Amino acid sequence: MTLTDPASTVAGTGERARGRLFIGGIWRDASDGAVMDVISPATGRKVGEVARATTADVDDAVAAARAAFDSGAWSRLSSRERARILQRAYALMRERTEELAQAESLDVGKPITFARIVDVNNAAELYEFYASLGHHLDGDVRETTGNTHAYVKREPIGVVAAITPFNFPLILSSSKIAPALIAGNTIVHKPASDTPLSALIIADILQEAGVPDGVFNVVTGPGAALGDHLVGHPDVDKVAFTGSTEIGAHAAAIAGRTLKPFTAELGGNAANILFADADLNAAINTVISAFVFNSGQFCMAGPRLLVERPLYETVLGTLADALPHVPFGDPADEGTVIGPLASANQLEKVAAMVDRARAAGARIVTGGERAELGGGFFYRPTVIADVPNDAEVVAEEVFGPVLTVQAFDTEEEAIALANSTPYGLASGIQTADLAKAHRVAARLDAGITWVNGWALLDPSVPFGGVKASGWGRENGPEAMASYQRTHSIVFNLETGASA
Ligand code: NAP
Repeated sequence: MTLTDPASTVAGTGERARGRLFIGGIWRDASDGAVMDVISPATGRKVGEVARATTADVDDAVAAARAAFDSGAWSRLSSRERARILQRAYALMRERTEELAQAESLDVGKPITFARIVDVNNAAELYEFYASLGHHLDGDVRETTGNTHAYVKREPIGVVAAITPFNFPLILSSSKIAPALIAGNTIVHKPASDTPLSALIIADILQEAGVPDGVFNVVTGPGAALGDHLVGHPDVDKVAFTGSTEIGAHAAAIAGRTLKPFTAELGGNAANILFADADLNAAINTVISAFVFNSGQFCMAGPRLLVERPLYETVLGTLADALPHVPFGDPADEGTVIGPLASANQLEKVAAMVDRARAAGARIVTGGERAELGGGFFYRPTVIADVPNDAEVVAEEVFGPVLTVQAFDTEEEAIALANSTPYGLASGIQTADLAKAHRVAARLDAGITWVNGWALLDPSVPFGGVKASGWGRENGPEAMASYQRTHSIVFNLETGASA
């Protein structure tokens, strides 16, 4: 498959899908026949089309999900049977790894090797993990003080609107779909307009695995036109949103009008604290992968490096030497580590932020420029030094392959700098002193902290934000709980049940 072959996109969206909407178990065009372009970030060229849903299509998808939920065909199926179906979906994802990886690489510009070993692998493991939880969906019996017998059931919430961003379409949809499904909910999924392809393959896989019609629906189309309608829809019972803090806050307000449960995974701007006692070679590798992975378009990236002062210039010199050698270019090449940004918009945004930092007097240690490669949206990995903590490029989420480096003198100063942005998603500590690692980790405002590594993620370990990085958690049993409501059933043991 080549990136410039439009025919490959048809294969990339699954033979049955062909870029259509998936509603009530049926592939169909948008009600007005509209389509939107799929652009390859590696070439800037159109490689296909997908349907551009209307609000009437959203209504149809929600109605299909509502009817499927109310029928009980999924919500009242035993959780073990749901688990078997999710396990089949896992197996099908493994069988279709190459198709999923190619779609993700074509759509997002991800290096194909990472698309296979990170995106498809991690997404499949989410289905496997939540399938395993389906064998243990137990409620509790509670000890009561009165003469009552009480038990607490965990029930599905209903119709879930699952909205995902452009950067990890497959993993972030899976981290919603798998726990929502195992808990018995039905779903309307809206992927990002820039990266809709893998959602269509997943719809095909779930249908083949045996998920009943209407339980999982996909509407592709612009969030600006469809988002408020979907989030505010009276038949949507819960919203699971991943995306920017700005749109997440807007969607939360819409969901709040109808008091829907709302979970949000939002922006991040993680600090990576490098202490002078760390294993420097290992730490430099961690620092690089933390900011170049997925071209920095990673909510849990580590774009703010805080270095203990004696190492500051050494670290800058090592990064300047190393980064030009990290394989950069065509994501279809097996050896590529850094591909393009996912869209022209993202490229413009990143380039403008670096230009403003340069104009304000920051030192560009390496990078700081676009790369003219085949018309794609490429930006060279960039390291910026001598920036004040309130500089835009430090304080705000850049979401590109850009690292700022600041020096600190004391543990207290490192903690203060790390916690100084409005975000609180991830953080990292590189040190050989484990007592220090525990001490500092306990004081970082973040949903997850990695010690001597980065992005050490697992389906069983929850992640999510504090402060402006969101509400709730994904992964782990915690995510499944967010797709359940409790129902307490209490018997009076003093009046007989039989009449
Ligand atoms: P975005 O612009 O906020 O879009 C996210 C999703 O929301 C897209 O599907 C978008 O649709 C949709 N949307 C747009 N307007 C909407 C509305 N009014 N109501 C409901 N949905 C609406 O985010 P993005 O640029 O795709 O992704 C990057 C952001 O996501 C970054 O801030 C990143 O940190 C964050 N993120 C967070 C996590 C996490 O786990 N915390 C993970 C990944 C990414 P369209 O695409 O059609 O506009």
